[in-house]
Amino acid sequence: MSAAVTTSHLRENPFELAREQLRRVGTTFEIDPNLIAVLGECKKAIEVSIPVSMDDGSTSVFKGYRVTHNIARGPSKGGIRYHPDVTVDEVKALAMWMTWKCALMGIPFGGAKGGVVCDPKKMSRGELERMTRRFTSEIINEIGPEKDIPAPDVGTDGSTMAWIFDTFSMNKGHSVLGVVTGKPLTIGGSLGRVEATSRGSLFCIRDAVAKLDKRIAGMKVVVQGFGNVGSYLAQFLHQEGATVTAISDSTTALHNPKGIDIPAAFAYKAENRTLAGLKDAETITNEELVLLDCDILAPCALEQVITEENADQVKAAIICEGANGPVTPAADAVLEDKGVLILPDVLANAGGVVVSYFEWVQGLQEYFWKEVEVNAKLNDIVSRAFDETWETAQSRKLPMRVAAYGLAVKRVAEATVTRGIYP
Ligand code: NAD
Repeated sequence: MSAAVTTSHLRENPFELAREQLRRVGTTFEIDPNLIAVLGECKKAIEVSIPVSMDDGSTSVFKGYRVTHNIARGPSKGGIRYHPDVTVDEVKALAMWMTWKCALMGIPFGGAKGGVVCDPKKMSRGELERMTRRFTSEIINEIGPEKDIPAPDVGTDGSTMAWIFDTFSMNKGHSVLGVVTGKPLTIGGSLGRVEATSRGSLFCIRDAVAKLDKRIAGMKVVVQGFGNVGSYLAQFLHQEGATVTAISDSTTALHNPKGIDIPAAFAYKAENRTLAGLKDAETITNEELVLLDCDILAPCALEQVITEENADQVKAAIICEGANGPVTPAADAVLEDKGVLILPDVLANAGGVVVSYFEWVQGLQEYFWKEVEVNAKLNDIVSRAFDETWETAQSRKLPMRVAAYGLAVKRVAEATVTRGIYP
């Protein structure tokens, strides 16, 4: 039995959920309601239509979005998602979370996100390239190294970033390395960027497990989503001696209580582009996967996976949010009562934007760093943010999410007050 996804993953409006989180933080940290009202809106949201000549001679028109939530702390930064269920409110929520993530990490960016409503799995490489180049042209006045810097997200990768970089550069008449991050190494990418999000998650898990006086080795781990974030996180935890008992992608979920051979799964996915058919594991559903008995559950696919409907059945002791928004606020409340330790998205998956920041800096300087240097600097930034969040959570008796969002929102609020509201 395979668990093909046919309906949208968005059961609730994600932007409303993101605002609900913001309101909770505003009350808890006693932030001026006027500022919360400012931060509850996106600075700019544009919608474009993207006509594309398809391989069969027909023309398809796709809808694309680019949203900037906030630029108080620097140019806006955020990925571009290609997925059939993209909505403008999903992009707005993701943009808001990017603002908090960059502020929590202390990097000089605001938040943005982009998306195109399409199914990249059903498109040829040529169709994807033409769609990406036309989308870039439609948003060319919005993006740029000092303005707004896209990166990969669900359904996009280094090739997508290469096309955006090339289209932007062709229009400017010279190479503009800082316009996107997540570029391939041959054209100004950073060493360590591909694995950066998962490496950041690993650093958070290490820090959390150390605080609990436990060890990763021997822990049972479940990872949902086997794309950029999930596959490398599964590999890193496997290398640390954890037993990864279940993994999944959009087509299948696999379970083996004795442990899945992660290097074999990685090779299988690279060759077949799906986990379906991988041997030595029982096929389950993605719904069953998140409820498995384990020490660490890492949702690394899409939003709203753990909701008020299934939160009370979650058995994990730690949830590491590799994905953005996988736990809804209603589920948060249930998990808080159960004593589950949640490593929230803005902390747990921030490694990607931190190394994106390094890539942007390296591109501006045209001077590139060694991988050990990238990874060490990433560790410094993520572990500092973890410690600040842990300390705030402990001293104020708050869940890690509220502590992380609180620290971040306060920093953005302070920047907004310092700059003043224009005019
Ligand atoms: P990706 O496209 O590389 O991988 C997504 C994976 O999720 C794929 O394996 C896909 O098959 C699987 N998937 C999709 N729908 C699913 C479902 N309903 N059930 C189970 N699996 C499903 O995307 P990614 O870059 O790994 O991003 C995953 C998540 O991590 C997203 O929430 C994204 O916003 C977040 N994130 C990504 C980065 C990054 O640097 N790529 C950084 C921070 C956060």
